Amino acid sequence: MSDRTADVVIIGAGIVGASCAWHLAKRGLSVVVLERERAPAMGSTGKSAAGVRVQFTTEANIRLSMYSLPFYRTFAERFGHDIGYKDIGYLLLVPHDKWDRHLESVALQHRLGAPVEVLDPVSAQDFIPFDTEGIAGATYGAWDGVIDPHMVTHAWVAMGKELGVRYRFGTHVTSIDREGGGWRVGTGVGSEMTSAPIVVNAAGAWSGGVAARAGLDVPVGPKRIQIFLSAPISDPRTYPLTIDLATGVYLRSEGERVLFGLDNLQQEFGFTEGVDETWLEHVLLTGVGRFPWWDDLGIDLKGSWWGYYGVSPDHSPIIGANPATEGWIDACGFSGHGIMHAPVTGLAVSEMVADGGAHTVDVSGFRHARFDSGDVAVETNIF
Ligand SMILES: Cc1cc2nc3c(=O)[nH]c(=O)nc-3n(C[C@H](O)[C@H](O)[C@H](O)COP(=O)(O)OP(=O)(O)OC[C@H]3O[C@@H](n4cnc5c(N)ncnc54)[C@H](O)[C@@H]3O)c2cc1C
Repeated sequence: MSDRTADVVIIGAGIVGASCAWHLAKRGLSVVVLERERAPAMGSTGKSAAGVRVQFTTEANIRLSMYSLPFYRTFAERFGHDIGYKDIGYLLLVPHDKWDRHLESVALQHRLGAPVEVLDPVSAQDFIPFDTEGIAGATYGAWDGVIDPHMVTHAWVAMGKELGVRYRFGTHVTSIDREGGGWRVGTGVGSEMTSAPIVVNAAGAWSGGVAARAGLDVPVGPKRIQIFLSAPISDPRTYPLTIDLATGVYLRSEGERVLFGLDNLQQEFGFTEGVDETWLEHVLLTGVGRFPWWDDLGIDLKGSWWGYYGVSPDHSPIIGANPATEGWIDACGFSGHGIMHAPVTGLAVSEMVADGGAHTVDVSGFRHARFDSGDVAVETNIF
């Protein structure tokens, strides 16, 4: 096979592209990954809050996590790469009006084997100080926590290279055309082209634009998400990734500090840049009722950052063959869940290519057709 041909071309070397590349190479396929940045994980992957959790409301999403979290938990032992996994947990604080539905989700999580504990508001305060007003109870996921998205992406890149994956960094895909039964992918680097029968679109928040270059409609667009960092706090405890479901405000320990935020999913699509101090003020005012100690919280504005969610119409990913053409697989639109669901996505994509369909984990709920048929349960734990 020439240097410019492959079985599969992947566009994007974020956590999803790197997982797909390694999983495909493991199945004996030749893979080229085209990434416009000079290194892996420079897109949304390097900007995330790094959280991984099983606490979802739909069976489809819980199953993605039930594959992916044990994969991360055993990564170092199986593959010899530390990926910074820490089981600090996710603590969800649930208001009265959401409690009954929340407990139904917990029952589903338990049925699928997820270790999730139900707590009363007082015992939940062992984890983090908060005002219990309006809170019916809390749930704590013991497998939930954080990984280091840079470390895991770089690990998959190294593991992929060992199996022959060819990474081309600094390579911006600017054209994608039909060639015979496959694709000819052009880049801004001179007139270099890469040809392959199959393209995997793992371009994150840019996936809609990448697909458009091939004349395809993939309903994924960017929304700016901001994360704020506090000055060091005095409490020596490590706070789990705690989400107040009454307001959507979240926080967790980051060393001696806390990082915190509130996703603005109502915003228009667009690559808006920068940290917005008005939004910071809104987050602080929204969160201080639940976390009264925020009254004295110092803010490290320079340490705060932003990145992009790649957002689909129902905030769940699109994982599957694009129905408008042949040889094109989308793996994008993960909103705030691409870190936690990268392992299962790579596996599913590799099975689609090598076996004609994903079979280890059912990802049919994430196919394109759901937007037409409307027959898929909508996830409500979107954060
Ligand atoms: C602030 C924030 C907090 C988040 N918190 C979490 C969290 O706690 N847990 C979680 O699971 N997820 C979280 N996410 C979401 C998560 O970061 C994403 O879902 C995930 O990184 C998506 O990975 P990806 O590989 O699909 O995309 P990316 O990492 O964005 O990778 C796509 C790559 O494609 C490249 N690319 C784009 N266009 C082209 C082109 N034309 N040619 C070549 N290359 C191209 C880009 O340069 C980029 O490197 C968060 C996101 C943000 C912004």
